[in-house]
Amino acid sequence: MSTINQLKLDMITWRHHIHAHPETAFEETNTTKFIIEKLKSFGINELYTEFAPTGVVGIIKGNKDGRWIALRADIDALDIIEENKIAYCSTIPGKMHACGHDGHTATLLGTAKYLSEHRDFAGTVVVIFQPAEENEGGARVMVENGLFERFPIEAVYGIHNQPNMKLNHFYVTHGPMMASYDVFEIKITGVGAHAAAPHLSKDTILTATQIVNGLQSIVSRNVDPLSSLVVSVTQIHSGDTWNVIPQQAVIRGTVRTFDAQVQDMAENRIKQIATGIASTFEAKAEVDYQRRYPATINHAKQAEIAIKAAQNVVGETNVIIDPTPSMGAEDFAFMLKKIPGAYVWLGAGQGANLHNPAYNFNDEVLTTGVEYFIEIVKQELGK
Ligand SMILES: [Zn+2]
Ligand SMILES: [Zn+2]
Repeated sequence: MSTINQLKLDMITWRHHIHAHPETAFEETNTTKFIIEKLKSFGINELYTEFAPTGVVGIIKGNKDGRWIALRADIDALDIIEENKIAYCSTIPGKMHACGHDGHTATLLGTAKYLSEHRDFAGTVVVIFQPAEENEGGARVMVENGLFERFPIEAVYGIHNQPNMKLNHFYVTHGPMMASYDVFEIKITGVGAHAAAPHLSKDTILTATQIVNGLQSIVSRNVDPLSSLVVSVTQIHSGDTWNVIPQQAVIRGTVRTFDAQVQDMAENRIKQIATGIASTFEAKAEVDYQRRYPATINHAKQAEIAIKAAQNVVGETNVIIDPTPSMGAEDFAFMLKKIPGAYVWLGAGQGANLHNPAYNFNDEVLTTGVEYFIEIVKQELGK
């Protein structure tokens, strides 16, 4: 029987191994093999890999029958060149665990090991090792492939570490935690001409800049000031030389919000503004708007369970209830749209921020994460 402190040493070893071998979206083949090997070594043999190209789902039965709940970790890395000088630095060129998913994976492995040895709960715990959280929506793929139809899971819980929040403090909202994440691309087509004969052009650069200005009116004039919305233009591409007015321009950007109606409004306004301004300048605009991740919204009842579990681990004063949500996004949103659950931040209290080349997961929060997950199981499936 492992105590949580014994598990800590195991988890640090696993975490450093995963950190040294980062794999990105849907290519986490060796990471998945590593997880499967560990789960089998804990005696967890009921494993499912059919919900996504990579990743694995394990089933842990308690001593008594009861309800089903799920615990989720993301397992993927990012396309970043690591700057850390550590013994277990990334060995894969250009790839890095810069969001701490190595730590999330180790935390859920530690939890799985503990639960496999301490089956004093009534029901079933499903451990979900989900691929491709970054950009590609691995959670959506698992949901679409019937994860929650295959198993009668009633609630799902996830953790994300946050280096810019206080060490071993939990942060939980009763509603929105993270924003929706959409992207847009506006292709502007005009008429190219010699720069010395602008009257012969339909200028795409002039049109593009007016569209960028126009897009600023969505946040300032179309949304209730008490509601949250981001419309950010992040790319403009046009032109190759000094003396040509280019025939094409492309604008790209992102939209973030917590509210589905605001999201609909932003999409419509971007289309109206882009096409309207383009026609004013005798050019043409085509708008491609893609909804990537919905908002991550906790369910109130499961948020209460998460708060209680967190308080039992770190004490009442170290659980921050209803913090300001983040305009970042998280594909756990797809799971929370399908079934009830809660997503919490675990403060790591130090170091470089997420997605920074100098970021490294803080091993001091591994046991806190395991204790939290074990408390969730107690709250949900305690006898
Ligand atoms: Zn990330
Ligand atoms: Zn992440």
